Amino acid sequence: MNKTVLTYCSECDGDKNHKKLFSKMIRGNSKSIEEFSIVECMGCDSVSFLQIVKLSKRSKPMHFNYPDDSEGYYNVLSQEYVKFFPKMIRGLYDEVISAFETNSVILLGVGLRALVEAICMDQSIPGNNLLKKIEALHHEGLISKSELPILDKLRIIGNNSAHKMEGLPMKKLELALGIVNHILTSIYILPIINKRLKIDK
Ligand SMILES: [Zn+2]
Repeated sequence: MNKTVLTYCSECDGDKNHKKLFSKMIRGNSKSIEEFSIVECMGCDSVSFLQIVKLSKRSKPMHFNYPDDSEGYYNVLSQEYVKFFPKMIRGLYDEVISAFETNSVILLGVGLRALVEAICMDQSIPGNNLLKKIEALHHEGLISKSELPILDKLRIIGNNSAHKMEGLPMKKLELALGIVNHILTSIYILPIINKRLKIDK
């Protein structure tokens, strides 16, 4: 039995060599072999569980990593708030969340960018391209100076997804969703919460 194995690390977000801390091999009734291991990433030291399944001697081993990325750590705005979005944005937001659920990285890049475009359209933000519109969002006071470069990255992410068919790692897309959530919150949710918070002066 090998003492190390190349497998996916969710912390490093890529394939890394792992040390096997503990392993148990189980032979199935057909020709299948399963190996259950507790492994330690040699890149970041994080410990995870790995199940390797080989259906026959010559078949390619399949790796199942726990935890993996498919669970997703992305933050989804609650439906209680999403209902305040304009209809077009609500529909797009739901589609983006489904793309997260299925790890569809290219669709996510395109979808997140489309959300930014949709916000600009809804807010009647002027500009003949997204770069100009993002700058205008800032001038209108809808996004802060610190959010400006991040939004511009979303524009580029969307471009690369749509034109080069390149997806970003899920971790980065999760960060991007966080930013979009923040902008949606400040434009569509906070004003409503503010109205509801009636304080007697
Ligand atoms: Zn790692």
